Amino acid sequence: MTNNMINLNTVKNGWFSEICPMWPGVALSLEIMETLYSEKSRFQQIDLYQTRHHGKMLVLDGIIQLTEFDEFTYQEMMAHLPLFSHPDPKNILVIGGGDGGVLREIGRHPQVAKIDFCEIDEAVIAVSKEFLPSLACGYDDPRVKVHIGDGHAFVKNKINAYDVIIVDSSDPIGPGEALFKKSFYEGLKNALKPGGIIATQGESIFMHQDWVVTLAGITRELFLVQAYANICVPTYPGGNIGICMGSLGPELVRPARQISQILQDQLKYYTPQIHKAAFVLPHFVEKLLKE
Ligand code: SAM
Repeated sequence: MTNNMINLNTVKNGWFSEICPMWPGVALSLEIMETLYSEKSRFQQIDLYQTRHHGKMLVLDGIIQLTEFDEFTYQEMMAHLPLFSHPDPKNILVIGGGDGGVLREIGRHPQVAKIDFCEIDEAVIAVSKEFLPSLACGYDDPRVKVHIGDGHAFVKNKINAYDVIIVDSSDPIGPGEALFKKSFYEGLKNALKPGGIIATQGESIFMHQDWVVTLAGITRELFLVQAYANICVPTYPGGNIGICMGSLGPELVRPARQISQILQDQLKYYTPQIHKAAFVLPHFVEKLLKE
């Protein structure tokens, strides 16, 4: 164990604890064996741990981004919910998601022609390529064009360019803050082609109700169709995360296309049934989103 590299604010007695003001009074702890990487980039503190039971774990500014144990739930749903809601997705933009996992999932769709990818922090990409090859394999796809920069600024210059935009951002503290503003969502809308769809990291119905209401409100105001999906991610606070979606035409709550058996066999979480089920929300959330 390389204890000398461990950030003592979050690691004690071989356990990493995620403590964040966005979910006060809760700490999710995972047992770790080794700190594989720990550096401050221009934008954030990046830590990569080998956990005892959950594979490798990527942590940005003390917040768990993913573990190898359960990353598939988030990556599959972030990619396949919007891509299967669209009848013919060809041009895709991904903002954030430096680990490459969402790119890996988009790459499974043969009809996709071009994937623009905008990540603010080159260091996250480099760390993922070194330590998380099962996610960073997403970069091997020749359809992917990497742009390093702020996603908010990137979309401002794009008009009528994409069928689907996926925002795989970190939380609205640090560099991710810009990706939770109404002006950003206006940029996303303008960047879509007619009939286009967005899917953004929508925080937790248990831990961040104010953000869920804000994001649902913005998408409802700007888009013809709006929907919010809830998915299970055991290593996120509350054990779940939402995906906030908006569409300029297609309905979102059921797939527009059939999934091939070849693709279904590659997946662990997404099915056409779970596509529909993800939008069925607990009563308290239905009421929250109506307000
Ligand atoms: N799936 C995980 C989750 O939601 O917790 C992982 C998210 S992914 C690692 C978040 C990425 O968004 C990070 O690599 C971060 O550098 C990037 N990011 C944050 N703010 C950004 C911005 N303004 N523009 C582009 N990328 C940004």
